[in-house]
Amino acid sequence: MSDKEFLPQYDAYVRERASDREREIDALSYVFFPRKEYIEGSIKLNYRHEFKNGYVFIATENEVGGVTILIERDGKPLVDLRTFLPNGYVFVSPTFLAALEGVPEEFKGNYFVNYDLRLVGIGDMRDPTAIFSVLHEIGHTASPQEETEEARTPAARKDKIARLSRRERAAWARAIKIARGMRHDYGIDLFENFDDFEEFKKVIYGTLLGHRFTEEIFAKEAHGLTKEDLKFFEDLFDKGKFSKDGPGKTTEQRAGSGNM
Ligand SMILES: [Zn+2]
Repeated sequence: MSDKEFLPQYDAYVRERASDREREIDALSYVFFPRKEYIEGSIKLNYRHEFKNGYVFIATENEVGGVTILIERDGKPLVDLRTFLPNGYVFVSPTFLAALEGVPEEFKGNYFVNYDLRLVGIGDMRDPTAIFSVLHEIGHTASPQEETEEARTPAARKDKIARLSRRERAAWARAIKIARGMRHDYGIDLFENFDDFEEFKKVIYGTLLGHRFTEEIFAKEAHGLTKEDLKFFEDLFDKGKFSKDGPGKTTEQRAGSGNM
């Protein structure tokens, strides 16, 4: 299924399926799809966001699509996000992918990790929440690669989806840990654009829902969905579970003075 076929189907499915409409649709507003021009490489990655205390987040690409993501202060690079990646990994844009053979279309312009090629694909950045998309992908690089063989039985398919849900939560937990570390080490508050942690959790919930609805569509196409299947998906990608296997509370939160 190409993006062109998938996106309208996804849209219609979400509209019909979102069970708690207000809450789910609100959270899904944090899921961004890349612009066509970014996928094709006519719009290059060039995103800049200035934080209140003078730190500037800058993401740019070079002519071959190699991406540099920095946090600067007074025009000097302070943190290079590449230092959070395992050895040999690089950030790349769709321009880089265009020169590679065999990259599936749906990867272009989206955030992803390719473990074999040691690539972290950078999506179309248009909003400060994109910073967390990068941290989330960095979080994925810390997990071993999911096996690619097809799940053939219903039980194997469920196991695979359950692993996906765990991997997504784990990547978010690592993203939050990195963001907290930056606040601790440099005083950079990446969370400042959110009113509180509840607001930030909507980003996480939105992306989990994005995975849930995508998996539901694939499952529906492959073998149809029973009521039990739908309940399985709902439980698995529920926001409430995040706090259970999430990063836990910080000292400030316990003291009631901070929210992230
Ligand atoms: Zn993910």
